[in-house]
Amino acid sequence: MGPGPSDVHPRVLSAMARPTVGHLDPTFIGLMDQIKELLQYAFQTSNELTLAVSGPGSAGMETCFVNLLEPGDRVVVCVNGVFGGRMKENVERCGGTALLVEDAWGQEVDPDKVEAALKAHPGVKAVAFVHAETSTGVKSDAMALCEAARRHGALAIVDVVTSIGGIPVMVDAWGADAVYAGSQKCLSCTPGLSPVTFSPRAVEAMRARTGKVQSWFLDLGLVMSYWGGGVKRAYHHTAPVNALYGLHEALLMLKEEGLDRAWARHWTHHLALRDGLEAMGLHFLVAKPHRLPQLNTVFVPDGVDEAAVRSRLLDRHGIELGAGLGALAGKVWRVGLMGQSSTVSNVLLFLTALETILAEMGAPIVVGAAVPAAMAAEHLP
Ligand SMILES: *Cc1c(COP(=O)(O)O)cnc(C)c1O
Repeated sequence: MGPGPSDVHPRVLSAMARPTVGHLDPTFIGLMDQIKELLQYAFQTSNELTLAVSGPGSAGMETCFVNLLEPGDRVVVCVNGVFGGRMKENVERCGGTALLVEDAWGQEVDPDKVEAALKAHPGVKAVAFVHAETSTGVKSDAMALCEAARRHGALAIVDVVTSIGGIPVMVDAWGADAVYAGSQKCLSCTPGLSPVTFSPRAVEAMRARTGKVQSWFLDLGLVMSYWGGGVKRAYHHTAPVNALYGLHEALLMLKEEGLDRAWARHWTHHLALRDGLEAMGLHFLVAKPHRLPQLNTVFVPDGVDEAAVRSRLLDRHGIELGAGLGALAGKVWRVGLMGQSSTVSNVLLFLTALETILAEMGAPIVVGAAVPAAMAAEHLP
């Protein structure tokens, strides 16, 4: 119940234990074609250039930046947490200039500030932002931010690592151009793969490059000789065959459940957790309209050693929480309800365990109210 990896379903684990075949085996190529279709569903896109990068979410992030940017490009980078900060690093390492639009940790990215930055700096190449900031549990308005980018002729680069599978990710409806995700958050696969998708506009921008992509491994022009080669696929790198079996199975499970139902499940369990924590007397960092159901950031009660609570939860109950990052270190817990970890039983076990531990420590909480609040009929079936 931390910020990922989330629990991996036994179906995914056993898919990964299937015999390893060659990365050019016709059976495997058929499976890759299915992965592409399933990813198009998860991203809600018809983008042709949709694949899983062989590397964690950070590799997907880097794939977007290195393929689109050339030295001298300027990018509006929205920073309201850890991952926006990494986007700035990426822009600078590509030889670009990051024009920062900063919002406080726990606040959403302000579309008005982005609009103002685009007006002040005509001709920027892209606007980059994180849809679901895992370091704080805040959701930003992807539709408004992509629209602002498009109005000013800039590409929209969007991080949906934590959002995909948990809250609506609508790549085509947003008009997003370069989007990267992760396997281990709400998709509940093992860590190490990064689904990415690129709009025709982004593909156009890659074709118009004058210089080589600085990374050989992440150069999509080369990667696509493998992923996009149809029956004439050529070796680029050895695909992580068994990891892709796992991603295929996790995406199949998402398709079977249906995106609408997966989003509703995350929301319902968030409401139960929220009402339980608030009944206990705890408070959320993020204002209600901008909260992520899959990542709940709550303040640690006064006088409580937050790390001691986390180790008791882990030792006694096998529950892992995320700690606060940056200025929030020691002040908050990050409670994940991602993918297969988003269940009623996890919510109830966590509330019971947390209440017991906080009461033992003499923390100023309300005892006995959390579970009944969480189980209120309007939330749970
Ligand atoms: C986890 C995460 C990443 C990085 O993913 P890794 O798989 O750890 O490389 C990037 N962005 C966001 C919003 C994340 O939550």
